[in-house]
Amino acid sequence: MDKIKVGVSGYGVIGLRLATGVELQEDMELVGISDVAPTLAIRGLVESGRPYNFYNAMPENEEKLKEAGVKISGTLEDLVKKCDVILDASPGGIGAENKKLYERLNTKAIFQGGEKDEVAEAFFHGYANYSKGVDKDYLKLTSCNTTGLIRAVDCLDKAVGVDRVALTIIRRVADPGDYHRGLTNALQMDRAPNHQAVDLMSIMPHIDATGLLVHTPVTHGHIITVLASTKKKINKEETIEILGKHPRIRTVKIDDGFLGNASLFRYARDMGKLRGDLYEIALWEDSIVNSGNDIMFAINIPQESVVIPENMDAVRAAMGIKSGAEATSLTNKYLGMK
Ligand code: NAD
Repeated sequence: MDKIKVGVSGYGVIGLRLATGVELQEDMELVGISDVAPTLAIRGLVESGRPYNFYNAMPENEEKLKEAGVKISGTLEDLVKKCDVILDASPGGIGAENKKLYERLNTKAIFQGGEKDEVAEAFFHGYANYSKGVDKDYLKLTSCNTTGLIRAVDCLDKAVGVDRVALTIIRRVADPGDYHRGLTNALQMDRAPNHQAVDLMSIMPHIDATGLLVHTPVTHGHIITVLASTKKKINKEETIEILGKHPRIRTVKIDDGFLGNASLFRYARDMGKLRGDLYEIALWEDSIVNSGNDIMFAINIPQESVVIPENMDAVRAAMGIKSGAEATSLTNKYLGMK
């Protein structure tokens, strides 16, 4: 079977990880990447010697790109023409602009969480609503927190049924290396309900979800606490058994040294993971408690890498692979998850 030809538009925090993700999929070919300027990520790519074909999305920056040593293979339009699917990871709002080009050239595209929902025909999660993405031309992925949250809630829901969830997102304010949020030392409250709870209901309409969000001046991952009202009461051991089996969830313990978000970031680097990326969310076994008939737990969300698996699922759905089980297990195998 021919490999699915994939292009990545926007080579930033998410785009460069999508490019790596596509390279690892044996049924996909990374045709090239596109960006608008010799950003730090593009300069890093040039110096690393990785042979990605670069397509220029801003012709007026051609000289600047050449001065930075970028070999230009064509324009964004040239890239789109060669691809079956574009993974668009440009900044929020730009994807909707780029969509005009994708539509004109009749090319499928997957958009990221920063775009408005209207950009796509379906709001997509590889496990919770795979069938909604099959054969669609335009899909939008959930945000990093929502992606990880839905993995856990959908897994519990499939095992014992979930009626209601209440969550608190302890949200990292920027990615490692970012300067645009300044040098801060404060927590900031968001208005309730958080968008992650609203988005969860859009993908899983049978669950009543709400929650709060607190921005924190850290960069190494979000933590979400979840209070889930399940149809059948479950205890700590059963929760570990159910969530621990999920290929995209790892269980960790405080006594093993996993004290918080930074421990997971460091652990991934110590394992030699490229860029310190973990594709799995982590469930703290020590966080699991019953509150009446409900179960409460905390998960870690590695915001830079968590959405990569569901993006790979989305490519397969858009290309017409009917079985979500087949699509997600291919993603898990190629990305090295259990
Ligand atoms: P980023 O700013 O790190 O990267 C965006 C890249 O797109 C930049 O390199 C920029 O130069 C490039 N770009 C700008 N205009 C372009 C155009 N017209 N065509 C092609 N490329 C263009 O942003 P990011 O953090 O990677 O976010 C991308 C998307 O992913 C957003 O929708 C965001 O909400 C979502 N997302 C981000 C995270 C995260 O933790 N950073 C997590 C999940 C989802």
